[in-house]
Amino acid sequence: MDRDDQNAPAPSRRRVLGKIGTGLAAVFASPVLAKGGGAGALAFQGQTPPRQSVKQNPVTQFPRPPFPGQTQPWPGLASRMRPRPDHGETSYQGTGRLQGRKALITGGDSGIGRAAAIAYAREGADVAINYLPAEESDAREVVALIRAAGRKAVALPGDIRSEAFCQQLVARAVRELGGLDILVSNAARQHALPSIRDLTTELLDWTFKTNLYAMFWIVKAALPSMGPGASIIVTSSVEAYSPSENLLDYAQTKSAQVAFVKSLAKQLAKQGIRVNGVAPGPYWTPLQVTGGQPPEMIPQFGAMTPLGRAGQPVELAGIYVLLASQESSDATGQVYGASGGSGNP
Ligand code: NAD
Ligand code: MG
Repeated sequence: MDRDDQNAPAPSRRRVLGKIGTGLAAVFASPVLAKGGGAGALAFQGQTPPRQSVKQNPVTQFPRPPFPGQTQPWPGLASRMRPRPDHGETSYQGTGRLQGRKALITGGDSGIGRAAAIAYAREGADVAINYLPAEESDAREVVALIRAAGRKAVALPGDIRSEAFCQQLVARAVRELGGLDILVSNAARQHALPSIRDLTTELLDWTFKTNLYAMFWIVKAALPSMGPGASIIVTSSVEAYSPSENLLDYAQTKSAQVAFVKSLAKQLAKQGIRVNGVAPGPYWTPLQVTGGQPPEMIPQFGAMTPLGRAGQPVELAGIYVLLASQESSDATGQVYGASGGSGNP
């Protein structure tokens, strides 16, 4: 569990590769890298700058639709998606922007939360991730990547629809990390339904519990452990601003998260705790292939954006790092968008 050396410089790409288990070999041989990561692959051998700093055409940088049709039972695994989502495994290189920080990320096993977890660790933070027990194999990959970055990884599986579990989650994260500087409330439930008539109270409750109640419970439990300079980041969505007709419940929660961010930021400003949101557009993650979209929409997922493709989780890593770091010291109550050219804010 412990990092190798708290003060060691960021490990080389070669060392990172050497330390990660063979289970991750597929990540590095992923179609994402093959298709869009030429520069990243070279950087991996220590020969050129990392992909995130190489000028590229964003239109062709990552896989474009059509994607292979695919569905998985909820909550799904990133490891089973084709192509595999790019969370920055081979490309993100840190520069010490979060040195010594302690972060808790819900939904840190896959998708956007995993991209934040990898980036935070490579920026020098110790990272605890929460996820569902069914996602253990995805979570193990993230734990290996955090440790390969020389940081402490804490794996905290459990269902955040329980207030008691949310309180335990925060307590264990604080105890095992030795404090808490960054909280990313990112886990969510999204299930597309054509009509309000299909939306049962049970399903409505599932979405609201996961996306709103758990956020409230976790933030409330975490605040006593957070001090000046701490940062809370909530993953909202373009759905907060441009709600889809088939995401009636989900869009409401994403909209409510924006109000939560803006209100809480005012409450906590005097304590020096910042609260911001991120509102992504379509991103290639398990959430979408486990009922987040109707299955027939998956092959063209993201095609309607001006960039003509879905985003990959790594494309949000920089925003999560910025909002967690001292560089955004005047940003609180803000929501940052990244949606391929359509949507707000
Ligand atoms: P994802 O499936 O990789 O992540 C969602 C995570 O939520 C899961 O990994 C799971 O660990 C967690 N989760 C769900 N229910 C849970 C529960 N009851 N208990 C504990 N954990 C639970 O998908 P993602 O797209 O990376 O989602 C991350 C965030 O991004 C969500 O808030 C989602 O609303 C938001 N978002 C996604 C998109 C997109 O297109 N993928 C767009 C806008 C916003
Ligand atoms: Mg997951």
